[in-house]
Amino acid sequence: MQKQDKDQPLAVRLARSLASSGATSLNDPKFASYLDSCDQLAQFRDNFSFPKRRTVWPQEYRALKEKTGEADDEDAVAPLGLMPKRTPELLSEELNVWAASGVLGHTDHAYSRPWIKIDETVTPILAEMVGASLSILALLRSAKPSEVACMGSLTGNLHTLFTSFYRPTPQRHKIMYEGKAFPSDAYAFASHVALHEYPPSSLLPVFAREGEFSIRTEDILRLIEEEGDSVAVICFGAVQYYNGEWFDMEKITKAGHAKGCIVAFDCAHAAGNVPLKLHDWGVDFACWCSYKYLNSGPGGIAGLFVHERWEERKRLTGWWGHDKETRFSMPATFSPLPGAAGWQFSNPSVLDVVSLLASLQIFDQAANYLPRVASGGQIESRGHILGALREKSVDLTGYFELLLTSSPYFVSPDQYPPAASSPASKHASTFTIITPAEPSRRGCQLSLLFSPGDSMDWIFDSLREKGVLGDERRPGVIRFGPTPLYNSWTDVNEAARALDESLKEYGVWKRGLEGQGVERLQLDEEEAGVRSRTGEDVGFKR
Ligand SMILES: *Cc1c(COP(=O)(O)O)cnc(C)c1O
Repeated sequence: MQKQDKDQPLAVRLARSLASSGATSLNDPKFASYLDSCDQLAQFRDNFSFPKRRTVWPQEYRALKEKTGEADDEDAVAPLGLMPKRTPELLSEELNVWAASGVLGHTDHAYSRPWIKIDETVTPILAEMVGASLSILALLRSAKPSEVACMGSLTGNLHTLFTSFYRPTPQRHKIMYEGKAFPSDAYAFASHVALHEYPPSSLLPVFAREGEFSIRTEDILRLIEEEGDSVAVICFGAVQYYNGEWFDMEKITKAGHAKGCIVAFDCAHAAGNVPLKLHDWGVDFACWCSYKYLNSGPGGIAGLFVHERWEERKRLTGWWGHDKETRFSMPATFSPLPGAAGWQFSNPSVLDVVSLLASLQIFDQAANYLPRVASGGQIESRGHILGALREKSVDLTGYFELLLTSSPYFVSPDQYPPAASSPASKHASTFTIITPAEPSRRGCQLSLLFSPGDSMDWIFDSLREKGVLGDERRPGVIRFGPTPLYNSWTDVNEAARALDESLKEYGVWKRGLEGQGVERLQLDEEEAGVRSRTGEDVGFKR
């Protein structure tokens, strides 16, 4: 895509690319591979290990394919959290140091990563990722302590920060959060309310309006206005795990502060997905895990952000948050490190930190690419760590959305579930997209809600048979997250086509089940519909 195109809507830009691609439609796999060939970030895919189709197959299917000798080793289309190929290498370097130097690895390290300050290998990159400072260079140059620490686990860090920041009084004791919060967060909020002997009515979840799938910013702001005086902490998931809604973090923070509330975010689905400016937005604290968009591996080390204005805040303490100069002289009184580092308790797991480092190094390289570089990937200077990646993310997700919304099985969210009179209701299963349509209100995740809800499991398995891996979220949702660091345009194209095939097969299976035989006429129509999506006559009508 050309530089001068940049202000054009995605559909217009894709139409222009289509003309030069020689492909016949947006659904044409040839078009997707043309887009891959123009993608300046395409090479980063090679840095990751992809699960093979045969490993993501449902068990019964795998057994069958292996018996018939059809099993192959093609890559699956896979979502979040893949392993960087460099991870085993970094881990074995640490094991080598351990084997060769034992405890001395804390200070003498063959790869210049002394364990005693292992967190410093990742915190500058994390700080840039979440907007705790302007850039790595600025951070290195300034002596300013970091607002970011790499430590613990997500729910653990949420507890740590709530212990510091949730200090309820009879006037101000509520915790406000999104109604469908990830259960771990909801349990954590409830436990803090209970620990302080407040009743469950101190929990203030905010829900979407009846018949809507995302929470309107205006509704959140109105509730803050109405209830803010009694709210101690506002803590939304920055990007909602279920519907993929990216909340307006800046507006929520400003509105909360105007009412004297502490404003925090759980950035589990935001860190590494959307560009954050936690410092500039004035967010008080935040935490995240690193095994989703940051690819650190299962149970990987988490992170937290504490705004510099809270330097003096009371907290839970441990030796690793103590001043580095005197930490090992074991003084009796605690003297905190400046910045978020002063919230650490324990020395972090070195293996976990380098596992995260392997992935952050790839993000760091991606920052050498600028958004909209017409010259095809030439390095001009360093961009924001999520600059070019976010640009690709918006387009890749937008392309996926165009393909999905042109499916015969798609029902628009305001018509979900489809009425018996609607043309879609002839299908055994249909889907809608419950993620906001505006790119500024989402990351790369699209959540598909199926109707009826119980068709989702069948379709999820059928997608696995086709080598397409999403995330199932009961009831009724499959999440897809085409991540710009390693997913290709071809992945997105394959996922959309596989979904149509699965929905078609579901209809056939369902009719067979009902023992009515297959209604030939109707099926032919459906087949024609699917064919036309891959054939010549389909543009991209919306
Ligand atoms: C993934 C996720 C968690 C998981 O918590 P852990 O402590 O890492 O097990 C919690 N909250 C949210 C919002 C998540 O997305």
